[in-house]
Order: sequence, then structure tokens, then C-alpha cells
Amino acid sequence: MTQTEDKTTPSTGDTPLVPMEKIVSLSKRRGFVYPNSEIYGGVSGIYDFGPLGVEMRNNIRRYWWWSMVQINDNVVGIEGNIITHPRVWEASGHVENFVDRLVECKNCKRRWRVDHLPEENLEQNKCPACGGELTEPRTFNLMMETYIGVVEGERMKTYLRGEASQNIYLDYDNVLKSSRMQIPFGICQIGKAFRNEVTPGNFLFRQREFEQWDLQFFVHPSEMQKWFDYWKARRFEWYKGIINHTDRLRFRAHGPDELAHYAKQAFDIEYRTILDWQEWEGIHWRQDWDLSRHSQFSGQDLSYTDPETKERYIPWIVETSGGVDRTFLFLLLDAYEEESPSDKDKEGRSVLRLHPWFAPVKVAVLPLQKNKEELVTTARDIHKRLQRLMVSQYDDVANIGRRYRRQDEIGTPFCVTVDFQTLEDQTVTVRERDGMTQIRLHMNELPAYLVEKVTWM
Ligand code: ATP
Repeated sequence: MTQTEDKTTPSTGDTPLVPMEKIVSLSKRRGFVYPNSEIYGGVSGIYDFGPLGVEMRNNIRRYWWWSMVQINDNVVGIEGNIITHPRVWEASGHVENFVDRLVECKNCKRRWRVDHLPEENLEQNKCPACGGELTEPRTFNLMMETYIGVVEGERMKTYLRGEASQNIYLDYDNVLKSSRMQIPFGICQIGKAFRNEVTPGNFLFRQREFEQWDLQFFVHPSEMQKWFDYWKARRFEWYKGIINHTDRLRFRAHGPDELAHYAKQAFDIEYRTILDWQEWEGIHWRQDWDLSRHSQFSGQDLSYTDPETKERYIPWIVETSGGVDRTFLFLLLDAYEEESPSDKDKEGRSVLRLHPWFAPVKVAVLPLQKNKEELVTTARDIHKRLQRLMVSQYDDVANIGRRYRRQDEIGTPFCVTVDFQTLEDQTVTVRERDGMTQIRLHMNELPAYLVEKVTWM
């Protein structure tokens, strides 16, 4: 595979990379992610999200939606269904071409996607893990089949969507007619996609059921390059704005052997994990391929008439396609740190330095002591007030240091401690996660102070 780096690629730094096992273990222990159907032995490449995981995913989705749909006048959103007419997948080329080629090592039995094999191993037909001989490649279609209807013989075979973006092409004409959008404009969607991945793994990185987000931006052909460059830059800035280690982010330009026949160029935004550089989002030049194919297969004319010039044409498309799951995984990998004991924290701690926007719990309210009723009642009252505005946790189990560490490990940006001084002057201690600095605030000032810190608007 040709790997041409774009000139804008920032250099990589020396910050330590987090082993995947740490994140897998934290995720299960603290309720971010669980293996699906674990009591039955699990299913490879399928996961469930626990109480903290679901909060974090909602925050990720909401921020993407806010920044892609809500604040852009020329972008609207839809929510299409997982199941569509089967012809959609013939038109899209998935039935015929959505395949992976797989080889197996005759010695260690490990399976490899041919397009992921290092060139040297491909040429010498050698397993990258043990050097054993590889089998001939076999081809597998990744689409998951399902059936609509109950009566045998009348049931229609279709597919769980292999990518979410097809709904956007299907609804494009309805959006045009029902909203007042004119080209250039975009349609966004977040939704589940399903693939029979032949090598699922690396935790959430390659799953069989996952959630994608897409922007399809419709333009006049003469403006394709301008909008491609615009969205490419905006999406890179978006990712840069949500991580701490910006040296782990880069563009990778697709080489000529990877480009679709209609694509002039394509880029992946990649993040560097301990497993090397990995795709986070793709920026694709889709030209008029999708709408032309659906026009052809459905018999419906999907061309656009410019209201001023009356020019008629099939719009060209810039696609930005990423996902909730890889964002979730890369944010955890980016945020996780283990700190040695220091003057500020004698025992050392694990901390998730998540941006407060994404943290599953925004604030923890802690009475200094559990056995003092007035402290407990005041802390519970504050928690109840804050809970209406953001995810707040009340915790009175264990000493205050342990409670801080429990919150640090799940990324809670603020802890509010109710102590004896609170009972005298209604002030509380607000402890911030990263620097462990503390300030005192009047409890009436607390809601506005925290809302400003934990929301992006
Ligand atoms: P790959 O080459 O890694 O299989 P792809 O190029 O087929 O990926 P796309 O079809 O472009 O991926 O999907 C767009 C985005 O959807 C990816 O950038 C990624 O964020 C997400 N995605 C794709 N496949 C998976 C998967 N199996 N599990 C989790 N997320 C995925």
C-alpha cells in the first residue's frame, strides 16, 4: 500500500503511548465498555457500553452534531434507517465489491487482510507473526444479510447497512424538496453500520457493529476542489481541538492504488496509537458517482437545476466519514495517564484527561465526612441542584483522597467538597482534575461556574 504523507503532517513527538490493555481493563472495571453477551462467551468484534460509556458516547455525538449541523446554516441532518431496499446495495457497489481478501498462516493459523500485509510479507508469502507460509487469498463479502417478511418464498433478502452514508443519497431529493437548501449544502447523519469484518479486533477499532458519522456535501463540479480543501481542513482542526497530544494526528494521502476510479484525491485523518498510525476519519472525493448510480438504478432523475442559471447537473460530493467508536477509543487512549506519587498526590493516580465536554461525569459532590448529617444533607442538596444541569455524582464512600482518585480515573473534571466551613459561610471547595488546584466558591455561584466550564456553547 502506498503511504504518501501530506505536507501538512505535523511531526510526531515522544509522548508515551498507552497500551491498549490498560484501556480495555479500565473500560470494563469502571463501566465504559463491556464485551457483548459475555455470559455466553462473547462475540468477537461486538461490544456494549456501560453507564459511563453511554454518557461519553452521547457527549461525543452531541458535540459532532453541534459543530457539523447546528452551527452551519448550509448543513442539515437526517436519521435514516438501518434497513433499506436491497437494490440500494447493488447501486452502491457493495453487493459486488464490498469484499476483503484474506490469507491464513498455515503454521500459526493467524488471519491477515491482504491489504494490511506489509509489502515484504506479501511478496515472500510469509506470515508477519511467525514467518510461516500463507494460504492463497480468499475473498469475503462484508455485508450482513437479513430478511424482510415472514412467509417463506415471499421474504425479501436485504442487508443491514454496510455504511450509514447511503441513506443520505436516498434522502437527498426529499431534503432538497422539503427544506430550502440550495447547492452548495450538506447533509449529516450519525448511525449504526454493520460489517462482517474478517479481522475484527484491537478493541473498538474494528468492530462488526459500529456507529459512523458522515457529512455528504453537495457542490457544483467547478467548486469541488474548494469545498474538498475546506472540509479537509475543518475536520482536521476539529480532531485537533478535542485531543491533548496533537503530535499524534496527521493526514495520510491515499496512493494511486487506493483511490476509487472517480476520486481525484482522498485523505485519512490518522491517530497514532501503540499499534501504529490508524485511520480515524476519511475525507473522500466522491464526484457524481453516488447520485449517478442511484439515478441509474432507481430510474429517478437526481439531477439539480440551478435556480438562477437554470443549469442542470448531477451534484458532486465531498464526503467526511468517521465514527463514534474510534473517537471514543482514541479519546480514551489520548487522555489516559498514570502519574507517579508527588507532593500534590502522595499515592500517585490514574487520570483521564478528557476534555470536560466528553467526560461522562461532569462533577462529583463529596461531603467531607459521611457521619456528619449536616454535611451529607448539604452535599445532597447541591448534587440535586447540579443534576438538573449536568451529570453529577454524589459519593460519600471512603476517605476524600480515594474519592478524588476514583473521579480522576473516570475523567470527572470537577469535585465539589462540602466541609465544615460550608456550614458557616455556604462556600465549597472546587477541585479541578488536571492540576489538582482548589478554589472556594459560594454555592450559589457553583452552577454558572460549572456550566461555563463543561459545555461548549
Ligand atoms: P478500513 O480500511 O479500516 O476497513 P474503511 O476505509 O473501510 O476502513 P470507511 O468505510 O471509510 O472505512 O468508514 C469510515 C469510518 O467508519 C472510518 O474512518 C472509521 O472511523 C469507521 N469505521 C469503519 N469501519 C469500522 C469498524 N469495523 N469498526 C469501527 N469503526 C469503523
